[in-house]
Amino acid sequence: MKINIQILKSEFQLCFGREPRIFRAPGRVNLIGEHTDYNGGFVLPMAIERETIVCAAVRKDREIRVYSVNLNAEGKVDLNASEQKRRGSWLDFIEGTARILERNSLSLHGADLLISSDIPTGAGLSSSAALEISVGLALSEISGYTIDRKILALAGQQTEHEFVGANVGIMDQFISALGEKEHALLIDCRSLEAKQIPFLTNETAVVICDSNVKHELSASEYNVRRAECERGVEILRGFLPEIKQLRDIGIEDFEKYAEHLPEIIMRRCRHVITENARTLKAAEALKKGNFTEFGRLMWLSHESLRDDYEVSCKELDLLVEIARNCDGVLGARMTGGGFGGSTVNLVRREILEDFTKKIAAEYERQTKIEPKILVSDAAAGANEIIDL
Ligand code: ADP
Ligand code: MG
Repeated sequence: MKINIQILKSEFQLCFGREPRIFRAPGRVNLIGEHTDYNGGFVLPMAIERETIVCAAVRKDREIRVYSVNLNAEGKVDLNASEQKRRGSWLDFIEGTARILERNSLSLHGADLLISSDIPTGAGLSSSAALEISVGLALSEISGYTIDRKILALAGQQTEHEFVGANVGIMDQFISALGEKEHALLIDCRSLEAKQIPFLTNETAVVICDSNVKHELSASEYNVRRAECERGVEILRGFLPEIKQLRDIGIEDFEKYAEHLPEIIMRRCRHVITENARTLKAAEALKKGNFTEFGRLMWLSHESLRDDYEVSCKELDLLVEIARNCDGVLGARMTGGGFGGSTVNLVRREILEDFTKKIAAEYERQTKIEPKILVSDAAAGANEIIDL
């Protein structure tokens, strides 16, 4: 549901008696490149048309007073007091963002903030990155700084690591801070180089299907996968001494030495190495407007995540199967860490309405779970909203 920014602004004026400046940052979906980030590889997300809005005005003191419409909750961070980490609440995101910006030599003013978001939390669309980036942009701008977007993104990631306790990669904050309308962003997770890839969605639409399941496995299995990848690198380094991460191995070299890996490790490595190659190919296909090829790579990505990396689940596989049986769906795959969450689908415009109805009905019929469906074009990254 779109946020009525005019109403939000009036509420701010009523509460605080001042005119706010207004900032926004979007959520995201990863189109391809899954479980590649911590292997130093490539990801290709786009920003979605769901966003977090922050109304902000400076205060004379060094307090950040913040109200979240979504949570109907308020809180306070005093920048002159000592740092407080890992409260286990949403204030960790606010405090972390402010503190890390200050460590980056920004001297922040106190602020009143009113926050509202139409990104569902915990649905894999990265409401947390949108919160960090929108608040970070607001705090730095009203304190008189034009912040470099990469520094802003890194501050968001550092917030998650240090103040929230979530060991996340850089993708979510990067796309939220640097995204451009009608573009996906190819991110090299090692060098942090990011390339805008034109993604015109006049012929095809991106449909995100939330399975509405989250299996408990995800956190523990995530650590197991990371360890398996590291083991793979260790063994392969015996043959290729110059490699540091799976990102450094091409498919040909991998095939030459794969037989020396235990079976499970071999499959985990094969996923990461082929997924990196698919992500680079997908970016090329997108650039050329070759959506058929892009879709083909999405199907392959799903198979690899399901069979080699084993991070899918029956609900995600079902959503992909339903999509595969619809004419006009060019590709579909699970997106995010796995064991639940969402699939992302590339769908021809002319079947869009039929598709969203069919996949929702069929999934619900087979699982008795209602999915959530979201259609989005590639949206812009964070910015100030100037003309309302
Ligand atoms: P995701 O990023 O996938 O949506 P996370 O668990 O990483 O899920 O982040 C969700 C948390 O971020 C929420 O529990 C809340 O603490 C915080 N958050 C996100 N959006 C808001 C908001 N609009 N107001 C307050 N807190 C928010
Ligand atoms: Mg998050």
